[in-house]
Amino acid sequence: MTQVTDHGGGVHSIRVPIPDNPLGHTLVHLLDTDAGPVLIDTGWDDPESWDTLTAGLTACGTDVKDVTGVLITHHHPDHHGLSAKVRDASGAWIAMHEADAAVVRRTRENPPSRWYAYMAAKLVAAGAPEAHVAPLIAARDAGRPRKLPGLDPALPDRTITPGDLLDLPGRRLRAIWTPGHTPGHVCLHLEEEHPAQLAGNGRLFSGDHVLPGITPHIGLYEDPDDATVTDPLGDYLASLERIGALGPAEVLPAHQHPFTDAPARVAELLDHHEARLADLRALLAAPLTPWQLAERMEWNRPWADIPYGSRNIAVSEAEAHLRRLVKLGHVETVQGSDPVTYVATG
Ligand SMILES: [Zn+2]
Ligand SMILES: [Zn+2]
Repeated sequence: MTQVTDHGGGVHSIRVPIPDNPLGHTLVHLLDTDAGPVLIDTGWDDPESWDTLTAGLTACGTDVKDVTGVLITHHHPDHHGLSAKVRDASGAWIAMHEADAAVVRRTRENPPSRWYAYMAAKLVAAGAPEAHVAPLIAARDAGRPRKLPGLDPALPDRTITPGDLLDLPGRRLRAIWTPGHTPGHVCLHLEEEHPAQLAGNGRLFSGDHVLPGITPHIGLYEDPDDATVTDPLGDYLASLERIGALGPAEVLPAHQHPFTDAPARVAELLDHHEARLADLRALLAAPLTPWQLAERMEWNRPWADIPYGSRNIAVSEAEAHLRRLVKLGHVETVQGSDPVTYVATG
């Protein structure tokens, strides 16, 4: 199967594999500019992924050494993982939204023990059973200095400023801030006529924000240094509306495949989240902790079959939904409960 697709108008995509992951691959995009090729995302940091990326660039008629810049949609390792290697090979700049650059800085600066302590405290507060939290506390107390995967991502050297055209000679590419999946997620809007004259407003590199067949994970913006009560799901829904209103002729996402009719996909995603919020509100007829809510929510498999790490992600997703329901006035915390429980209002 070919790893490279020519989308026309100086845009290619390269299918870069993600090892041991059901998502399968990241679609890394290559954009020709008058100053040389620019990448949108880079893929997972793994030897096979690197080989696929560099072979894909050669198949596109260029070379990794010639890459002049890297635009990162968000800090996740399947998007930002290979950025340091690309910069080492080419001297390319790396650009990211400031909110995700802050996540990268924090990840590099904090020792793993800090992260374990934060996660343990958070899970206790969410009502996780002792047996679930124990391994995190053990890891915290062991204080091992070992590096965790994804804990040494490249520091970006440029900032993507939302609303601005990026400095790409010969191209009109505008950054659109779409927080939700991460605090600094951006979509990149190619404000040029579609090469096949499809009706609509240019093409949109959507990262993980809008995918044709799956809904991105929306959890809390985990930050040990910041106690601000954020509303990532609210951010995500607002970001979705913005993309729907943009009406791009074609969406080039970072996973799965390109698609048209972005407004229809946005409407589907908004409906999905509305239905999910209604289901959770019904579950909260009786008071539940975030952990108990996660156990009762619908996932892609029964709770008993969800592995350890995915349970942490699931609880984070339950908490993002609780924040939204509280903000909407549909749910409130039970006074004096510890761990905190939530219950539907009226
Ligand atoms: Zn992601
Ligand atoms: Zn992704």
